Amino acid sequence: MSYVIEGTTGPWEVVIGLEVHAQVLSRAKLFSGAPTAFGAEPNSQVSFVDAGFPGMLPVINRECVAQAVRTGLGLNAEIHLWSRFDRKNYFYADLPQGYQISQYAYPIVGRGSVEIELSDGTRRKVGITRLHLEQDAGKSLHDQHPTKSFIDLNRSGVALMEIVSEPDMRSPEEAGAYLAKLRQILRYLGTCDGNMEEGSLRADVNVSVRRPGEGFRTRCEVKNVNSIRFVMQAVEAEARRQIEVWEQGGTVEQETRLFDTARGLTRSMRSKEDAHDYRYFPDPDLPPLVLDAAWVEGLRAALPELPDARRARYMRDFGLSAYDAGVLTAEREIADYFEAVAAGRDPKQAANWVMGDLFAALNRTKRDIIDPPVSAADLGALLDLMADGTLSGKLAKEVFEAMVDTGRPPAAIVEERGLRQVTDAGAIEAAVEAVLAANADKVAEYRAGKEKLFGFFVGQVMKAMAGKGNPALVNEALRRRLGRPEV
Ligand code: ADP
Ligand code: MG
Repeated sequence: MSYVIEGTTGPWEVVIGLEVHAQVLSRAKLFSGAPTAFGAEPNSQVSFVDAGFPGMLPVINRECVAQAVRTGLGLNAEIHLWSRFDRKNYFYADLPQGYQISQYAYPIVGRGSVEIELSDGTRRKVGITRLHLEQDAGKSLHDQHPTKSFIDLNRSGVALMEIVSEPDMRSPEEAGAYLAKLRQILRYLGTCDGNMEEGSLRADVNVSVRRPGEGFRTRCEVKNVNSIRFVMQAVEAEARRQIEVWEQGGTVEQETRLFDTARGLTRSMRSKEDAHDYRYFPDPDLPPLVLDAAWVEGLRAALPELPDARRARYMRDFGLSAYDAGVLTAEREIADYFEAVAAGRDPKQAANWVMGDLFAALNRTKRDIIDPPVSAADLGALLDLMADGTLSGKLAKEVFEAMVDTGRPPAAIVEERGLRQVTDAGAIEAAVEAVLAANADKVAEYRAGKEKLFGFFVGQVMKAMAGKGNPALVNEALRRRLGRPEV
C-alpha cells in the first residue's frame, strides 16, 4: 500500500533521502587527543588542533577509522581501502580552522543498504549511498548573554560519520523507520550512542514531491532534525508545503530549511550551497587513508550479531513470535539480558518474565536494563525455583516483587519469608478437610451439580495455606475428596 497525499489537483508521492550525522563513539577526537565526553565545562576539551592554531598538524585517530569501518560493515556496505580527506572551506565563528576536514570525492565507505520494517509487516530496503568521516564544528551559544554570543569548542574536531541514503523512502513512516533502524544498528555496533537529545545523532531530511510515475523533482533539505518523531513531522509538513507551491503554479527552489517544532512548519534558512561554494581540495596535511584488507577482515570477524540476525535466531531457535523477538532484540542490552535468563531454561517462559515482570519493574523503579533492579542471574534462579517445585507461579510473582524491593536473590527471600510452596500431602489434605468441614452447604451444592464451586474451594484452601499450597496438588486433593458432581 503506497502513501500518497491528495492535493486539490490530484495525488502526490513523497520522495525522501536522509543525511544522518552520527557522532563516533571514541574517547578522543578525529585528529587530536582531546576528550569527547558530553556535558563537560565549556572549552575544557580543546587541543591546539581543535582551536585551529597555526602550525598544528592533525593526526588521524585509528579508533575513529575502525568505528567507521565497523559501521560500514554493519550497513552491508563496500569498504574503500583507499580514501582521502578534503578541506571543506567556510567561515563561521565556531569553526576556527576556517575549514572542516571531511571526505568528499573518496569516502571511506561506499554503497550499502538497510532493511526497514513497517507497521503492516512489509519489509523494504533503503540504499546507502556512502558514509564518510568528518570533523564536527564547535557550538555557538546565543542564549548566555543579552548582547554577546559565546563559543564552546569542546565539540570542535569530534569525529562524525555522515551517512547518506539514497532517495528511496516514500512516506513519513518509512523515514522514521529508517532512522530508527539506523540508530539501532549503530547502537548494536557500539559505534555511536544514538542519543538524539544530546545531538549525537541528527538528520538532514531531503524531501521532494512528484506525481505518481514521474521522475524526481527539486528537493529541499530540512537541516538538523533531532528526533525520529520530528523527522516524520518535518517530512509531512515540507511535502504539504511543496505540494501547495506546485499546485499554485509555482516552482520549488532548492534550499535549506529549518523545522519549527513548535509550529510544525518548515521555514527557509538559506538557498542551497553547491559543492563549488566550499572549494573542496585534498587536505595537504594528511596523506590518503590506506587500510589493510586483513585489518578490515579482522573487524568484520569481530562484529556483534546484528538485530535482524538476532531476531531471526530467536524465532528459529526459541520459537518466539516475530513480535516478541522484535521487542527482545530492540536493544542489544535487552537481548543480552534475555539470553542470560533463557540459557538452559524455557525460552518462552524467560521471554514472558522479561517482557512482563521485568519491564514493569524497570518502569516502576525508573531504572534501565543496564542497571536493572533484578539481575539476569537472579531472575534465572527464580525460574529454576519454579522448575524444581519450590515456588508456584503465584509465589514466584511475590518473590519477584521482593527481589525488586530488596535486590536480594530469590533463594534468600524464600528462606527469610518462608515462601516455599507446600507440597506435603498431609498438610494439604488437612487444609482440604478443614475447608470442606467449614463449608458443608457449598459441598452439598457442588455435589448436586454446581461444578463451578470448585474454584471457590481451591481459593479457600490456598487462603488457609497462606497462598503456599502447591496448586496442582491442592487441585488433585480436592478432586479426590469431592469426587465428581452428580449431574
Ligand atoms: P548534495 O551533495 O547536494 O547534498 P546529494 O545528491 O548527495 O546532494 O543528496 C543528498 C541527499 O538528498 C541524499 O540523501 C539523497 O538521497 C537526497 N535526494 C537527492 N535527490 C532527491 C530528491 N529529488 N528528493 C528527495 N531527496 C533527494
Ligand atoms: Mg550533502
